[in-house]
Order: sequence, then structure tokens, then C-alpha cells
Amino acid sequence: MDFNFTQDELAFRDAVRVFLRDHLPRDLQDKVRQHRRLGKQDYVRWHKIVAAQGWAGGNWPPEYGGAGWSPVRRHIWDEQCALAAAPPLLPFGLNMVGPVIMAFGSEQQKRHYLPRILACDDWWCQGYSEPGAGSDLAALTTSAQRVSAADGDYFIVNGQKTWTTLAQYADMIFCLVRTDPSVRKQEGISFLLIDMHAPGVTVRPILMLDEEHEVNEVFFDNVRVPAANLVGAENKGWTYAKYLLAHERTGIAAVGTCKRELLFLKRLAARQMKNGQSLLADAVFANKVALLEIELMALEVTVLRSVSQDAMHETALQQAALQQASGAASGPAASMLKIKGTEVQQRLSELMLEALGPLGQAFDPAYLAGAAAHSRGAGDEAAPLAAYYFNFRKTSIYGGSNEIQKNIISQTILGL
Ligand SMILES: Cc1cc2nc3c(=O)[nH]c(=O)nc-3n(C[C@H](O)[C@H](O)[C@H](O)COP(=O)(O)OP(=O)(O)OC[C@H]3O[C@@H](n4cnc5c(N)ncnc54)[C@H](O)[C@@H]3O)c2cc1C
Repeated sequence: MDFNFTQDELAFRDAVRVFLRDHLPRDLQDKVRQHRRLGKQDYVRWHKIVAAQGWAGGNWPPEYGGAGWSPVRRHIWDEQCALAAAPPLLPFGLNMVGPVIMAFGSEQQKRHYLPRILACDDWWCQGYSEPGAGSDLAALTTSAQRVSAADGDYFIVNGQKTWTTLAQYADMIFCLVRTDPSVRKQEGISFLLIDMHAPGVTVRPILMLDEEHEVNEVFFDNVRVPAANLVGAENKGWTYAKYLLAHERTGIAAVGTCKRELLFLKRLAARQMKNGQSLLADAVFANKVALLEIELMALEVTVLRSVSQDAMHETALQQAALQQASGAASGPAASMLKIKGTEVQQRLSELMLEALGPLGQAFDPAYLAGAAAHSRGAGDEAAPLAAYYFNFRKTSIYGGSNEIQKNIISQTILGL
């Protein structure tokens, strides 16, 4: 869809395309296109290639080593990467803890962690959710008790986090912990940076529906954390936690990826036969694809509108994020994009399975992992799609469930 990009923005888009053409490794591109699983080395390899170009922190301010991109440039980057089937740059360092450290961290934290995030020297994970605290996050109970010692203050951390994405690879976890149990639940929370290699940290895998090891339980058993790893002020962690959530707005709908997957769905359906003709020519199936494409186009327009508003009101947006962090609820735009984006993603995976019929029942973990002996070439596109379908049930739960997003919309737009 055309957007009124300026000449500068069009030149930037061309530069991104050239960069992707020249630097995106073919094997990584194939893995993404073929819905195979990505491992730690795949993510790190791509991140380091992008970092060498100076674009890992595209939207970070130059003073912290970023490229200072506008929201429009960030959108162009995200979309071109998705269309080219580049692996994602994981958000935990770049888009989550990085901006929190920039806004609220100490000078020492900024000096130490920010360059390492840009270079992907540390793998970060997010320790918010707990078994009894997901939608009601402020109910969290992982405790951090401050202790003074001759060699400086530290916290003793005890408790459990859950659903921690890719914690099995992580060097660091940013955690919400309870430092004061005696006050209102939002007021006794602090934001701590914890070394995953510290004694007392245990990671236990949770296997997803598709047997993917993507999420984990993380246990803290008397883990000693230097007080220098506290971000901002003690008991103000809820403010920083909300800043993080409010900050992560662009890219949430994954429109570029959906456009790539829609083309894939059409190719897939075109090759399946029904009543002697291509499935894509079947009126009932073509109608389903058309409805989905219309939803995707509407979503893209909404994203572009949001990006252009962000571009016009960049400073206001920063202020809004800070305001949200200090009390008001998250805005409804991110909630709308989250709901619609995840619905489109799930529908795409449903129609892929429907197009395949019985072939869609194939499940081959070795193929997903990319084992050479199981590589049947680009023609065999059915193998990963059942796993892809099951894996994508997660999207309406993570990042704040879609029901919670609907609550936000009903309160902030409908005034219910
Ligand atoms: C694949 C995956 C990856 C994740 N990665 C991370 C991560 O890296 N770090 C992290 O901290 N967390 C992570 N999460 C956790 C995620 O944020 C939570 O699962 C999510 O917030 C929902 O919390 P819950 O699972 O405790 O469900 P609950 O809060 O128990 O909700 C259960 C059901 O009740 C509904 N519900 C709850 N409250 C309401 C309400 N008030 N109104 C209407 N409906 C309601 C929910 O929508 C849901 O359907 C991940 C989750 C998944 C599935």
C-alpha cells in the first residue's frame, strides 16, 4: 500500500532493501520463509550483522549509539525486514529494557548495559509474569529483601517467574520484584536486573503445543543481586514497568510479516486442487482469502495512520508514555493493533491448514529444526504448518491477552 513517503524516506527504503539484499544470509532467509525454528545462533548472527551496520538501535537516540530514526523510518525498516524474511531482532533488550535504562537507569547502568544490548553481547529475557500474576501483574510475589553488608548493599531474591521467553539462552533478566509487601500492591514493586548465571537461578523448560521449547519457568532461590542493579528508585518499579509496555508500540501488528504470509498462503492454495481446479479459484475459499486480505489492508491503514501521528507528535508521544507510566492506563491504539494483528496472524495460519487438508496433519520436529536429512526442499511446504498453526495460538495470550486489550478499549474509547 502506498504511503506518502518523502524523498528522504524513499531513499532510506532503497538503502534498507540494498542492505537486506547484500547482507541477509540466504540460509537464515530460507529458515524464516520455510517456517523452520530459529536457534540462538541464528538470532545472534543476524543481530550482529545489523549492529555492524549501526542499525540495531535504529530508533535509539544517537547519544546512546542509536541511529535516531523517526517512527516512519522505523516502520520502513520493520516492513522491509519482514518482507525479506529476515529473522526478528528480539525485543527484550532493544525495545524493552534498553529504553527503561535510558529513561530511568543510573549512569553506570547506561554505560555498561546499553552498548552490550546494541552489540548483542548479553541475551535478555523478561521476568514479569508469575504463576499467580499474569493479567493481574501487580499481584506478583517474587520478593527482594535489601541487605546491607560491608562490601555494599544487595538484594536477596526468592520466588518464581513463568512463561519467560527464551530464558534458556539468557545472560540477564529484568524482573519486577516485591520490595515492600506492606503497601498497596502497585507501590511495593521494584525493577531489578538479575544475572541469569548467578547461584540460585534455575531455568526449567515449558514445552508448547508444537513441542517448541520457547518459554520457561525461572526460579530464584536466595539469589544475591547487587543493589547497583536496581533501576531507578526502590518501590517505583510499577512506573518503569508501565513505561516499558507503553513504549513498545510500533511493529506490534506485524503487518509486513502478515503480507509475506498472505503471499505464501496464496501460492499454497494455488497449488492445491479442488474439483479439478486450483483451490484459489474455488469461490468459497477465495472468499475467505479475500476477507482476510481486506482485514489486513484495513490493519495496514491503521498502522500507517498511527505511524504518521507518531511522526507528527513524537515529543507528545514520549510525554504520553511518561504520563501513562505515572498512572493513566495504556492508550487504546496499541490495544487495537494487538487484537487485530493477532487475529489476522491466527487466521492466516488457519487458512494455511485448511488449504492443505489432510496434508496439514504432518508434524516433523526434525524438519522444523532444519536437520539436513529431513530437508525436502522448498517444494515441501506442508511439513511445518501444523506446528505453525498450534504455535500461533499464543499470540492472543502474550503481550497482554486480547480480552484484557478489549477491556482497555471498552474503558478508554467506549467509556464503559
Ligand atoms: C508464548 C508466551 C510467551 C510469553 N512470554 C513472556 C515473557 O517473556 N515474560 C513474561 O513476563 N511473560 C510472558 N508471557 C506471559 C503473558 O504475558 C501472560 O500469559 C498473559 O499476560 C496472561 O496471563 P496469564 O497467563 O497468567 O493468564 P490469566 O491472567 O490467568 O488469564 C486467563 C484467562 O482469563 C482472561 N482474563 C483474565 N483477567 C481478565 C479480565 N479482567 N477480564 C477478562 N478476561 C480476563 C484472560 O484473557 C485469559 O483468557 C508469555 C506468554 C505466552 C503464552
